[in-house]
Amino acid sequence: MNHNLYAHFASRFQGAEDSPLLVTNDGRSYSFSEIDHRTAQIADVLAGLGVRAGDRVSVQVEKSPAALCLYFACLRTGAVYQPLNLGYRRAEIEYFIGNAEPTLIVCDSVSEAEMRAIAQKAGTGHVLTLNGDGSGSLAEAADAMAGDFDILPCEADDLAALLYSSGTTGVPKGIMLTHGNLLANGQTLIEAWGFSAKDRLLHALPIFHVHGLFVAVSCVMLSGASMRWLPSYDAKDVMQHLPECTVFMGVPTYYTRLLAESDFSSDTCAAMRLFVSGSAPLLEETFHAFDERTGHRILERYGMTETNMNSSNPLAGERRPGTVGLPLPGVEIRIVDGEGQIVPSDETGHLQVRGPNVFAGYWRMPEKAAEDFTSDGFFNTGDLGKIDADGYVAIVGRNKDLVITGGLNVYPKEVELFVDDLPGVKESAVIGVPHADFGEAVVAVVVLATDDANNEADIIAACREELAAFKTPKRVVFVDELPRNSMAKVQKNVLRETYAQLLS
Ligand code: AMP
Repeated sequence: MNHNLYAHFASRFQGAEDSPLLVTNDGRSYSFSEIDHRTAQIADVLAGLGVRAGDRVSVQVEKSPAALCLYFACLRTGAVYQPLNLGYRRAEIEYFIGNAEPTLIVCDSVSEAEMRAIAQKAGTGHVLTLNGDGSGSLAEAADAMAGDFDILPCEADDLAALLYSSGTTGVPKGIMLTHGNLLANGQTLIEAWGFSAKDRLLHALPIFHVHGLFVAVSCVMLSGASMRWLPSYDAKDVMQHLPECTVFMGVPTYYTRLLAESDFSSDTCAAMRLFVSGSAPLLEETFHAFDERTGHRILERYGMTETNMNSSNPLAGERRPGTVGLPLPGVEIRIVDGEGQIVPSDETGHLQVRGPNVFAGYWRMPEKAAEDFTSDGFFNTGDLGKIDADGYVAIVGRNKDLVITGGLNVYPKEVELFVDDLPGVKESAVIGVPHADFGEAVVAVVVLATDDANNEADIIAACREELAAFKTPKRVVFVDELPRNSMAKVQKNVLRETYAQLLS
């Protein structure tokens, strides 16, 4: 069997090649044949540049149908797709590119000059452009191609994608996902969520992250469904298109923003069969408010880049707010104490996962992966959870020092390292505090070395220069010293409590 994920996508559209697969918000419709042909043309370009199976292709472009075709082309050729958040700034990009050593970088025309300089430093031979409107040097090169590139045969453990997560050390790690990981999880999800060719997904998520790129796209492509494609999330756009869609996937912020619209009602959702939430905790009050307003009980699921999706509330059974449902078929979840012993029901411990969905390790950091896996093959997620007597899993916290803002992860260490380096700063601690719109917002608690050196605006402005906007602190507060425990470890829980109301 060919494990190439794209081969499985293609097989779902046999006999339905010409029906609409993707419709943009301005009404342009793309059939599978068109997408498939474009994908083959881009694959021709990649092959012509010498991109071979296993080579990385780093991509920092706007969300567009053309960008989706580029992802598919990488699958098709066996290249490893490395999507990069458009919000990343130069120093961040330099690290990702330097670490992944791609054969090709694709970026938008505006950042081409800067990207060429980064490529040169990393020894990357090719930089092509692709803009949100589908133009650019990659598009021009693809136009000239016949589009007859075959789908490369793959093994299940061949790499398909490389996504970066900063981890607790502040050094970003490349998470290696295989064709087998993505296929297994996609197939599980279409069964669990009842996807069929009749579905139309309203796709409003970014496609540099597991949620929009793998969960959403794989569900559509493996079930022969279709999608309405929005360039980004906007509550009014979503409301406009929900009436012709059946499924919506979002981070909790998307739902709170919909609820903030006074004319969002059950009528808006009349054609919908399923709302899915994940990437950050969905507040019970949001779940209930949504149910009251629309009659829909949002289905919350739990996953992470390293594992794809692990658990989900049921499609047919009871969806319990405040839980992330039951382990997905084929996925084992267990809760262990500090010694690795399984704890009884309802007791909180470290959440571990095993299954075909779990990633193949960290790129060029075998020792890091070894630290995160148990001897019997469970991955230590870094989340704290509990499982009740009925098997429902709840995420009760994280033992990894992570802030999730608007569904995007910020590893405080990365921001702390940057802030600590600013002139006049002695040390800093970065925390997440509750925020009505983003769930959590990044706040830096700073100890100054000298009284006069910095103010809040200076520090925020310096961060904005070098860090993606979502990582930049929304507020900076100054203290004389950071609270520490007897082991001299900064007590972030104390800081989180102290500043819990800062943004409310
Ligand atoms: P990412 O790798 O960006 O998808 O982030 C993964 C992390 O997001 C997980 O390890 C959890 O800490 C968190 N997460 C994802 N889904 C949920 C959820 N439904 N409830 C609570 N936390 C979640």
